[in-house]
Amino acid sequence: MRTEKTYCRICEAHCGLDVTLDGEKVVAVKPDKTHPVSKGYACIKGAAIGELHHDPDRVNHPLKKVGGEWQRISWSQAGNSRFWQ
Ligand code: SF4
Repeated sequence: MRTEKTYCRICEAHCGLDVTLDGEKVVAVKPDKTHPVSKGYACIKGAAIGELHHDPDRVNHPLKKVGGEWQRISWSQAGNSRFWQ
């Protein structure tokens, strides 16, 4: 297990977080008391960011809607506007 300093990206406050990981799995999220701006504050959304990160419905790759269905596409396709049409 290790704890990494990071910040919440949900809103513009960017509160500091201490995230504890077991391998790549987030097992705890706590407000970072040493963060110079948020100083140990994080709202409930930031504290729950580990659940959001591991949510099975999270979109982790580009998707394109084809015939009413979402299809996975590559990152290079997603970055090429001719595939958007
Ligand atoms: S912890 Fe809450 S207030 Fe802080 S950046 Fe995240 S969403 Fe915004």
